[in-house]
Amino acid sequence: MNLEIISIGDELLIGQTLNTNAHWIASEVDKVGFSVTRHTTVGDTKNEIIEALSLALKKNDVILITGGLGPTNDDLTMPVLNDFFGGKIIENKEVLQDIEKLVLSRGMEMNINNIRQALVPDICVPIRNKNGTAPGLWFDINNKIIVALPGVPFEMKAMLTDDVLPRLIGKFKLPIIIHRIVYTQGIPESKLAEVIAGWENNLPSTIKLAYLPSPGRVKLRLSSTGADRNKMSELIEIAVEELKMIIAPFIYSTEAGNIEEIIGKLLSDKKVTIATAESCTGGYISHLITSVSGSSDYYTGSVISYSNDIKVRELGVNSLDIEKYGAVSKQVVEQMAEGVLKKMNVDYSIAVSGIAGPTGGTDDKPVGTVWIAISSKLYGTQSKEYRFGKIRSVNIERTAVAALGMLRELLIK
Ligand code: AMP
Ligand code: MG
Repeated sequence: MNLEIISIGDELLIGQTLNTNAHWIASEVDKVGFSVTRHTTVGDTKNEIIEALSLALKKNDVILITGGLGPTNDDLTMPVLNDFFGGKIIENKEVLQDIEKLVLSRGMEMNINNIRQALVPDICVPIRNKNGTAPGLWFDINNKIIVALPGVPFEMKAMLTDDVLPRLIGKFKLPIIIHRIVYTQGIPESKLAEVIAGWENNLPSTIKLAYLPSPGRVKLRLSSTGADRNKMSELIEIAVEELKMIIAPFIYSTEAGNIEEIIGKLLSDKKVTIATAESCTGGYISHLITSVSGSSDYYTGSVISYSNDIKVRELGVNSLDIEKYGAVSKQVVEQMAEGVLKKMNVDYSIAVSGIAGPTGGTDDKPVGTVWIAISSKLYGTQSKEYRFGKIRSVNIERTAVAALGMLRELLIK
């Protein structure tokens, strides 16, 4: 069953509001088996809305629209849909009661715009909105379903989850869609594609593969659509097991999860503690570690040693080594890791020092040069040099992911 999402709002077109509705709706309808064919975004303009709707109706069984359902003159969705499908706008008593209840419960009085929100086309079923005044509109026209929901994300989400999705699932016979994600780190997309080409070419025709890269990581998504869930799961499981045999060291998870969660689980399971000494990431590694609930069990803190002075004073780095080798060097990053290990009396430590850019590079050490060290009571200290790119934010992200990746390797030893 094909489904298109149409987002309506001038603010979306000019980049003032991020279109999070389309993103969220797409993943919800995908989970229950719809094929999302297109996302369309148009402004609050009658002709644009009609054009988008006409196009969408040609190819889709379901069209989900958000935005433009407010009571003011710039909100056109309801009257445009009404005209398009040839209805009559009438006051709906139940909707009016819902609105009155909501308005009074918030200690306010009904105003003219509240009353206007109870006007709906007589050819649609209104969808109740428990969190706001604009009702949703459900049209069933020639066996195609067109649903309009308010743009306010929390109102839209509740209406879709509680009402619209159950109705859609009841109306259509939907196939099963399974996605499985294999999370890799430490191998670039192009190299990964080369290494797994043989495996990819031998995948069953029912499994589709997608590469989803982000700084320092590549997610491999295996998708299968069909009617037999067990058979589909089994084929995907076999494919994942075969993949593990080829690229095991680079896979950090085959379940949902990101690298900081995986690290968190490893540290908790081992009942060990960790601290960080961060230069070029300025605390970003700590932020990732502490974004995991329960991280206080294993994370003690960080020395954000951005300046050389702090590296020397707080971490005990030898100032002569900084002069001789530079702050971005094996010698310095290893001393940072050892310094914080001792200072915080932890089992493991991570230290990073690099040139995030865009300025500060030299011929010897271009922008993107990063040294990462891991120190532990058990395995001593090890370090590695990386050469990332030229973009500051990407370098920070890649440094953090690489550091957590190095730690993971050590933890699963
Ligand atoms: P509307 O239903 O068009 O009156 O939209 C109400 C508010 O919802 C807007 O001011 C936006 O902040 C928000 N909104 C509308 N459309 C979207 C969207 N596609 N994604 C995220 N927020 C939205
Ligand atoms: Mg709007």
